[in-house]
Amino acid sequence: MPRSSMRRPTPVGREDEVPRHRSQSDARAARKTPGRCPLCGAKVGRIKPGTRHARHCGACGGTLNKDITCPHCQTHRVWTGKRGRVCHGCGRTVDRR
Ligand SMILES: [Zn+2]
Ligand SMILES: [Zn+2]
Repeated sequence: MPRSSMRRPTPVGREDEVPRHRSQSDARAARKTPGRCPLCGAKVGRIKPGTRHARHCGACGGTLNKDITCPHCQTHRVWTGKRGRVCHGCGRTVDRR
């Protein structure tokens, strides 16, 4: 009886490789990640368990500004901070007017 328990070396999966070049769509996707600051990518967490995500980033000082309407997706999810303005809804940079 051959020992079937012997494991073959697993071939290296190409899916594990990190792409060197990140497309612009990927960068936008990172900005849209819930629970993360769209400006710097730091975790903003939740105010309390079960509540909405915090609207302030302690890492970069960015805050969600409900007064600004995103010109790209027409939502009020634009974060403002020292790093500029980024919409959490579509991940695009919002120009200052
Ligand atoms: Zn931040
Ligand atoms: Zn937007």
